[in-house]
Amino acid sequence: MSAIESAAKPWVSKLAAYEPGRPIEEVARALGFNPREVIKLASNENAMGPSPKAVAAMRAFADKMHLYPDGDSFYLRRGLSAKLGLQADQIFLGHGSNEIIALLAHVYLDRGSNIVMADRAFVMYQLVASLYEAETIMTPMREFAHDLEAMLAAITPETKLVFVANPNNPTGTVVRNDALDRFMDRLPPHVVAVLDEAYVELLPREEQPDSFRYVREGRPVFVLRTFSKTYGLAGLRIGYAAAPAEGVRLLNRVRQPFNVNAMAQAAALAALDDDEYVERTRAAVREGLAFLRRELMGLGLECVPSVANFLLVKVGRGRELFEALSSKGVIIRPMDAYGLPDHVRITVGTMSENERCARAIAECLRERRIS
Ligand SMILES: *Cc1c(COP(=O)(O)O)cnc(C)c1O
Repeated sequence: MSAIESAAKPWVSKLAAYEPGRPIEEVARALGFNPREVIKLASNENAMGPSPKAVAAMRAFADKMHLYPDGDSFYLRRGLSAKLGLQADQIFLGHGSNEIIALLAHVYLDRGSNIVMADRAFVMYQLVASLYEAETIMTPMREFAHDLEAMLAAITPETKLVFVANPNNPTGTVVRNDALDRFMDRLPPHVVAVLDEAYVELLPREEQPDSFRYVREGRPVFVLRTFSKTYGLAGLRIGYAAAPAEGVRLLNRVRQPFNVNAMAQAAALAALDDDEYVERTRAAVREGLAFLRRELMGLGLECVPSVANFLLVKVGRGRELFEALSSKGVIIRPMDAYGLPDHVRITVGTMSENERCARAIAECLRERRIS
């Protein structure tokens, strides 16, 4: 082993790398396709493209890119504060909510501590826990939904963080308000809850969990949101946490001074005001989800009922279907990283993308039966 490896901390070489959705350009290069012939339904991005208001704001901001960003994201925190009914000092901005998950691990976890999460919840929680040599306690889901009772029961004196993805990726299931309330009321006092709401804006307003209330009440909670999904800005990397001010201060101590770039701040502030775009997104997701579900169930495939912009589908050998679809220029996501080798996850695209995806899956199933 060379010094470059042997000098490293031993557990680092054992870490598993995150497998992201395969990029369009990569698949196009491999197949000799034009990138325009390839569609990506693999990373739960917004198929409508970015909010036009955000695009205009970025254009207007482009000639200021020689300046460092506002390290406090003053205007964006003020905008979020007004929109969400929180104080500005209860809002923390991150380079995507993924960065915030990593910073939470930095603040709370080390060897001997643990996190509690559901076994089919977002894998990033376990990955960041392993960065700090913390253990991950996984509790089984029930019909692909969080079993909050089991999670409470799994908490030990060494537990620091409990993660609930709501709605959850990759299952698309949601925890209702009364269940969440009961969970929060019974959380032992040494534990901090992380409520990851990356897809929550896709729900009709009256169905969205009222988790900011816990922040206002000063409970030990971080509510994570992102501009990557409903707001269509995944490429910019920007998300936020709402938490009691003491929690925000902890995160501020461990972040980089300019963790959120200036373009992202400008675009997010503009997107936040684009209610029309969010409405259009919700309607397109609802229609696309219903279509995909109908088509795939028509092919005899089981789909987990989803409230988000993706669908978890039982297909048999998931990675095989992923490869077969890739070779037809349709990128979806295999699910072995989630212990679900029989499933794939399909993001809702535009209507023509959804139609192409359903057609390609039907072809693959036919070819598989013949071979
Ligand atoms: C997509 C996603 C995120 C966040 O993404 P960022 O792009 O880093 O903001 C966080 N949690 C879940 C469950 C997600 O699916």
